[in-house]
Amino acid sequence: MMNLSPYDNDQYADIRAAVRKLCAEFPGDYWRKLDETREYPTAFVRALTDAGYLSVLIPEEFGGSGLGLSAAAAILETIQAEGGNGGACHAQMYTMGTILRHGSEQQKRQYLPLIASGELRLQAFGVTEPTSGTDTTALRTFARRDGDDYIINGQKIWTSRAEHSDLMLLLARTTPKEETTRKTEGLSCFIVDMREVVGKSLSIRPIRTMMNHATTEVFFDDMRIPAKNLLGEEGKGFRYILTGMNAERILIAAECVGDAKWFIRTAAAYANNRIVFGRKIGANQGVAFPIAKAYAGMRAAELMVREAASRYEAGEQAGAEANMAKMLAADASWEAGNVCVQTHGGFGFAEEYDVERKFRETRLYQVAPISTNLILSFLAEHVLGLPRSY
Ligand SMILES: Cc1cc2nc3c(=O)[nH]c(=O)nc-3n(C[C@H](O)[C@H](O)[C@H](O)COP(=O)(O)OP(=O)(O)OC[C@H]3O[C@@H](n4cnc5c(N)ncnc54)[C@H](O)[C@@H]3O)c2cc1C
Repeated sequence: MMNLSPYDNDQYADIRAAVRKLCAEFPGDYWRKLDETREYPTAFVRALTDAGYLSVLIPEEFGGSGLGLSAAAAILETIQAEGGNGGACHAQMYTMGTILRHGSEQQKRQYLPLIASGELRLQAFGVTEPTSGTDTTALRTFARRDGDDYIINGQKIWTSRAEHSDLMLLLARTTPKEETTRKTEGLSCFIVDMREVVGKSLSIRPIRTMMNHATTEVFFDDMRIPAKNLLGEEGKGFRYILTGMNAERILIAAECVGDAKWFIRTAAAYANNRIVFGRKIGANQGVAFPIAKAYAGMRAAELMVREAASRYEAGEQAGAEANMAKMLAADASWEAGNVCVQTHGGFGFAEEYDVERKFRETRLYQVAPISTNLILSFLAEHVLGLPRSY
């Protein structure tokens, strides 16, 4: 197989090779069939969990392998570069971090070992709401304290994998916005054990999307959860969620680099094989140059992902780099996807080539978990000192 980056031989080369081997058990037709029926890749996620890849970020004392973010990035990048879709399970890696950083000792002991072993799935992350959109502090889901419980009412949208998760990390208001001095206060984080409430006070409605993503709408109707499921301090939840977002952005950026590698490798292979006018189409610079340009874009994005991950691992400020990595990598994968479709001509639209599926899948990352505009707003305001635009 063509090696597309010297980083493929980094300190995680063994992990990459092992993940590649696992992915070989789940080839294109596995993903294609699921895409057709919009089913969840249960067998793939089970295999990843059993092999310990979803728990690499969980410290050893809680049953994980205690590796850093770049190991997790190498795993997710490899899944994408092999044609798979880590979107089915990537959230477990970064939502777990919120419990690790802000959970009590008792919560960590209760949840992390079971998440590491795969007995508990923490795949659902309930932040976005239909009316608040990107303006998270405008969310309306409310958790009211009632003795030893909280009673939760409201609605989330785009809560991915809720049907395939046991736990949900939920952000809800605990103090009305009007009663806070800053709108970022009065929000709290909860661990919701969905097994106890689903079909009763919690209902889940799947949303069919342009790609297979198992995303849903979730409704809370007087949902009662124990107060001990509050993470950290009441009212500080927004900050807890924000601290996890850099990890989320870096990991998703790594997935986009993986997608870009898949598109570039697939396009180059096709351009080297397809004969039109008696010669390989790749002999035409009009075909070769866009692939070469997509390659340069991928390598540049890959560098920023590295920079962001190493800053994050060193405990340095990584907000700007995590955001830039996410934006540049999402742009690189989208550009590479477009070039891959173009290189394949009509066959780029045929399902059996997987190009159109990957093209639909990678499009998401221009919008989620944070859209490109909001990344540019962050850079303009926080790096360049320009006026806040919202
Ligand atoms: C498939 C899928 C899976 C998802 N999974 C999850 C999940 O598991 N959990 C979860 O909580 N959320 C999830 N999301 C939600 C996702 O994070 C949001 O869709 C995303 O943050 C954008 O929010 P929005 O859709 O409300 O868009 P809006 O906030 O309504 O924005 C619409 C458009 O306007 C632009 N815009 C808005 N405000 C500004 C501004 N001030 N300046 C410039 N441009 C602006 C945005 O960039 C965007 O292009 C998912 C979304 C999708 C589609």
